[in-house]
Amino acid sequence: MTETRQTRAPVGLGTPLQYVKGVGPQRATQLAKKGLTTVGDALFHLPLRHEDRTRFTPLRALRPGEVATCSGVVIGLSPPPPGRHRQPLAIVLRDESGYGTATVFGRPWVARAVQRGQRLIVHGRGARYKDKISLHVQEWETVDAGDDEPIHAGALVPVYSTTEGLPQQALRSLLWRLVEAHAHEVDETLPDAVRARRHLAPLADALRGAHFPASEAERVAALRRLAFDDFLLLQLGFAILRSRTTRQRGVSMRPRGELLARLRASLPFALTPAQERVWDDIRGDMAAPYPMHRLLQGDVGSGKTVVAALAVCAAVEAGYQAAVMAPTEILAEQHLATFRRLLEPLGIKVTLLTSGLKAKERATRRAAIASGEIGCVIGTHALVQESVEFRRLGLAVVDEQHRFGVHQRARLKGKGERPDVLVMTATPIPRTLALTLYGDLDVSVIDELPPGRKPVTTVARTESKRAAIYAFLREQIADGRQVYVVYPLVEESELVDLKAATDMAQQLQREVFPELVVGLLHGRLASEDKDAIMRSFKAGAIHVLVATTVIEVGIDVPNASVMLIEHAERFGLSQLHQLRGRVGRGPWKSYCILLTSGRLGEDAERRVAAMVETNDGFKIAEVDLQLRGPGEFFGTRQSGLPEFRVADLLRDAAILEEARREAQTITAEDPELRQPAQRGLRQALLTRWRGKLDLASVG
Ligand code: ADP
Ligand code: MG
Repeated sequence: MTETRQTRAPVGLGTPLQYVKGVGPQRATQLAKKGLTTVGDALFHLPLRHEDRTRFTPLRALRPGEVATCSGVVIGLSPPPPGRHRQPLAIVLRDESGYGTATVFGRPWVARAVQRGQRLIVHGRGARYKDKISLHVQEWETVDAGDDEPIHAGALVPVYSTTEGLPQQALRSLLWRLVEAHAHEVDETLPDAVRARRHLAPLADALRGAHFPASEAERVAALRRLAFDDFLLLQLGFAILRSRTTRQRGVSMRPRGELLARLRASLPFALTPAQERVWDDIRGDMAAPYPMHRLLQGDVGSGKTVVAALAVCAAVEAGYQAAVMAPTEILAEQHLATFRRLLEPLGIKVTLLTSGLKAKERATRRAAIASGEIGCVIGTHALVQESVEFRRLGLAVVDEQHRFGVHQRARLKGKGERPDVLVMTATPIPRTLALTLYGDLDVSVIDELPPGRKPVTTVARTESKRAAIYAFLREQIADGRQVYVVYPLVEESELVDLKAATDMAQQLQREVFPELVVGLLHGRLASEDKDAIMRSFKAGAIHVLVATTVIEVGIDVPNASVMLIEHAERFGLSQLHQLRGRVGRGPWKSYCILLTSGRLGEDAERRVAAMVETNDGFKIAEVDLQLRGPGEFFGTRQSGLPEFRVADLLRDAAILEEARREAQTITAEDPELRQPAQRGLRQALLTRWRGKLDLASVG
């Protein structure tokens, strides 16, 4: 079959692997399982790691517990006796140092694949077996005498992700042939000038070096080049989106400032220097004639809401309307209360628009929004999806979101006269991640807390301390404080979790704190009930609020001084930090108690330790990123951003910065990549962003 194909068309990057010599339909099916369909796909199937097989460990030098790769000639084979599958296959090998044994467990068929006299490379860990030191084999390969290319041994050998029925060696040999024959056909993406400036290898060389490097230096250079491409293509997309924004006409809002002055005068505190600084950024953007596109980052409790209220006030004073979007209804309701308190004394009408409203009420409110009577609308993210009509929308504030992707932001921009967009996030994220996730936004950071905030004391406790913890809560409440008791709630076991929280609330009320008032708050309650409970907690009428994670974001009750988290091991790190942010908001010393049960896994242990160690949201975010890995931490698929082939946000932060600067340089000269020198980049960009950049229609 291969022969007939070969006479038809030469093999190229687009050729299905099935038609490559030595690959038949069966192997092609296995390759497809790894997402490899064409020659081009295979070239970008990069190794998981490389193994240094340039220096083999002499058989006589094997030590128990040490990882080693040995090479020797097979002298003898003793397979396990029939029916004794638990026993290993023992292979006696000889090398220059003498004799040694390699043991293979659970793979009796290896005995049939290996013959006396053959050279064998074995990789594994030294171990004692039957009073002798042998190598417990993890990977093995035979080396044919006639094998001219040292691809499986004597080199930095690539180890690939494989699948059942697709042996490592077979895949490696195939890739060797494909890289040799086709790497040079891959189009160079980078203009020569960029490569020279950044000292980057040509793409074809990088591909060769990423698979079959001649040295460690070559491997590193290859990965640097490929990581650079990953970052550059992401940052270029962002740079293009941004440069378009600044070339678009948006609304220019220049309030007279009288209303703003009244709002500032009404605050019981002065803004912190950090708040002043970010407010300056925002005010400048709002006055400019292009749409604002800014991320406001600040740790929990740093005072983002007040800054957002100033922006809303400025928009209204300039004759526009503002929309404020929160991720949950309960938080939208909380914002309603805050914004009303701040803005209604100034004559600004604030209203809520959520799915919980009765149809008639909704219609009335929508009409008031359309007529322009309402200055500020608060809702959930659904506001974006719905066709709410504004008379003159000038500002959209998107609060507390990590789930709000580039596309939703784009959708927002499509509303009205390209409103200014302010995104607020309470999860401080490391700079690398901010550049990756929000590269299309300008960033302002509130990097200090309002004065007088005392850091929350965090402790980890186990079940044995429960009675002492309750005694502590009682003391705090006797001093006039209030406390939260939080339960985890995960979707899969929602009902069970809900029951646990409900039972606990009842038990606390009846048996532990009969003289106090215990309240229960969870997401399944009707919104009036949630509202009523929150209001009485705020008013001090509830002493102990048992809650599921609905209180995670935004809730502001300064009198609460203790956050007790049950099953703390079940929460993610950023969730724990958010929860802790619910206390320490007043002048009192506050506490966060992490109650754990059972033996903690390694990751849970590190999460708890990080919480106890630091209050700094940025440090917490770094640890979170390390624990979860960038993939999960930032969910590329969800955000709709291009995926990385090799770039690693933790390891390659410096490359990211370089790529970002390069992206800015490139777009400054040629914003839509129209010049012939940018052809390669343009093509790569379109592929990576899967059409979401809309380059073609513009260029
Ligand atoms: P964030 O939204 O960033 O978590 P908030 O805006 O909810 O923080 O502010 C937390 C608390 O701090 C609120 O009670 C708010 O009134 C108060 N606050 C905000 N700014 C200041 C300030 N400059 N000085 C004192 N208190 C402030
Ligand atoms: Mg907030």
